[in-house]
Amino acid sequence: MDYFPAFLDLKYKNVLVVGAGEVALNKIKLLLRTKAIINIISECICQEIQCFVQRKKVYWISKKFSKIYLKKTYLVIAATNDTKLNQKIFQMCNNACIFVNVVDDQSKCSFIFPSIIDRSPIVLAISSSGKAPILLRLLRQKIESILPSRLGEIAVIAGQWRSVVKNYFTRFLDRRRFWEKLLNGPFSQNVINGNIKKAISILKKTIKQPSVLMGEIILVGAGPGNSDLLTLRALQVLQEADVVLYDCLISKDILDRIRRDAKCICVGKRAGKIIINQTQIIKMLIEFAKEGKKVVRLKGGDPFIFGRGGEELEAAKSAGILVQIVPGITAGIGIAAYTGIPLTHRNYAKGLIFITGHKCIDKFENNWSILSDPNYTLVVYMGSLQIIEISQKLIFYGCKKSTPIALISQGTTINQRVVIGKLGETSNMIKNITTPSLLIIGRVVLLHEKLKWFNLSNRSNNIKNIYSVID
Ligand code: SAH
Repeated sequence: MDYFPAFLDLKYKNVLVVGAGEVALNKIKLLLRTKAIINIISECICQEIQCFVQRKKVYWISKKFSKIYLKKTYLVIAATNDTKLNQKIFQMCNNACIFVNVVDDQSKCSFIFPSIIDRSPIVLAISSSGKAPILLRLLRQKIESILPSRLGEIAVIAGQWRSVVKNYFTRFLDRRRFWEKLLNGPFSQNVINGNIKKAISILKKTIKQPSVLMGEIILVGAGPGNSDLLTLRALQVLQEADVVLYDCLISKDILDRIRRDAKCICVGKRAGKIIINQTQIIKMLIEFAKEGKKVVRLKGGDPFIFGRGGEELEAAKSAGILVQIVPGITAGIGIAAYTGIPLTHRNYAKGLIFITGHKCIDKFENNWSILSDPNYTLVVYMGSLQIIEISQKLIFYGCKKSTPIALISQGTTINQRVVIGKLGETSNMIKNITTPSLLIIGRVVLLHEKLKWFNLSNRSNNIKNIYSVID
């Protein structure tokens, strides 16, 4: 983080604006939304600022800048077209530890102005640290469009009722539940629609409803790694969680979306190395839920695909705990999309089979003749380390040695790497491969070359001439 975001209380504090042209005017208009005392130093001032001076909204204290005006000043904005003067102001402010912004010269700013979305008392301030103003503008438009214009009113009413609610619900968790329930329900919609009376009556009713603090366990699929692939529901739940038990595969980007005050515990496995075993995980889930907490079990991909979600759910249900499931995009589906390998295709595959490669070779229950059917695409989770054994088995049961196979690591993320090869020649595919990785086997793999679209600079490592050998 190049700049630390913070909200300043400028109420009745001196802010100095040096310069009084158009540029200064924009900053003054912003500052006028606060109760700051705005002092202006400038040889001459533009008409609009002149009006502010007459209406005593700002004070024109001098024509010439001098060090004495920095006394008792919290913030300085230099908006003159005299670069030497700007430089001098910057230097003096820095020496005196006063925050200064020389407009349009980031090198002479100890603070920068964020882009502001004002639904006071809700204020959103965003910044690209001066790196990408247009991107910031687009982002701001997006945020503006999803925030109701009367959002501020919701916050005002919440503020007015805060102490009443605090007296009513003495436990912090009860209070949080109350606000979540209220704000997620028809109360907010009524405020947005201008039905304030109705909204208040809903609020009063909600307070009176006996609050039974029920914990719950929510299994959430986080998708294959790219945080853009989180579902809206997953995001909502992550924002409401009290406790999150997450796997090692969950990326930092995704962890960053969790409510800041939630307790986050990594319970994952990495390459077979167990940090906390399954029984302990289940025990923790149930214990937290019994304390009345909203417990999120965050898993890579989809919780019901090789994720042991079923077992955790069974245990939660048997313990009489409320459960919810939020599906996620499983690695096979996400990776298929991000590599341009359609798992089914009328000309190549009638269907698909997901298997786990983990200890699959010796398991008699795997029907290798079905897995070797060339009309199906085979997706192998946890199988990249056994790629040679799996290939040999498939060939033994009838697959052609020329069958295309893709080994994809860190799929859907910017580190995605795709290696394409043939079933008969897999030994050199595993070099430099990183975890997690997944195998896609079948004719659809041929389409990758034509349909790939993501992360093209991270070159795929294709074995040459494969296309001429496949019929
Ligand atoms: N529940 C998960 C799968 C858990 S098993 C899901 O639905 O996706 C873990 C295996 O998933 C890994 O060993 C790997 O084979 C695969 N996997 C998960 N994320 C992956 C990724 N981003 N890239 C490649 N493989 C991935």
